[in-house]
Amino acid sequence: MRLDKLLSNASNLTRSQAVKAIKQGDVLVDGEPVTKGASKVTEDNEVRYLGTLITEPKPRYYMLNKPLDCVSANRDKNSLTVFDYLLVPRRDQLHVAGRLDRDTTGLIIATDDGQWSHRLTSPKHEHFKRYRVTLAEALTEKAKLALEEGILLEGETKPTKPAMVDVLEPDLINLSISEGRYHQVKRMLEAVGNEVIALHREAIAHIELDTSLEPGKWRELSPDEIDLSK
Ligand code: URA
Repeated sequence: MRLDKLLSNASNLTRSQAVKAIKQGDVLVDGEPVTKGASKVTEDNEVRYLGTLITEPKPRYYMLNKPLDCVSANRDKNSLTVFDYLLVPRRDQLHVAGRLDRDTTGLIIATDDGQWSHRLTSPKHEHFKRYRVTLAEALTEKAKLALEEGILLEGETKPTKPAMVDVLEPDLINLSISEGRYHQVKRMLEAVGNEVIALHREAIAHIELDTSLEPGKWRELSPDEIDLSK
């Protein structure tokens, strides 16, 4: 990795502050000052900034209970984003693994580990996402069967993969799907003649939204939650 990248990742310095610090000799690599930000270092090198040992930061994983009226993008001109709630350092380096609509609440996972989030969200790995869905009308048996079998959404040529449906109350269901098509849950319910009134994501794969998190609150994922081999 480049020395300036390592230093800015491992400290609160911006990339240009890191370049400046390196240039003025504040950084030693294996005891020797190195003044070029572009110099390459590996984990075998001992890097010190003003005497403090610098190590590459570990990947970070967070869950947030997304409130209503907040968008999953990194930036938005007009609306609050999940990163206005997830107030951690260097959040410009994080991305959301599996976005939610602005009017959907619940489990958002943010990380800086691109390979991990790809494994979590890629349809190839078939990780189920579970949504609690409040409906405009009671779900009919016919509609339940259609959702479970797979359903052709408007404008698409391939039916959805089989979903799992748990009827909690006539107009309240848990729906688990393994894909992430555009507005998928809302369109699936529309396709069976119903309408989503409220949508809340409770789980992605084995990662369950921590029910002690109030809307807008977050915590780090535990090692078990990060482990995708389950
Ligand atoms: N399906 C939807 O329609 N919206 C979401 O936010 C997530 C899944």
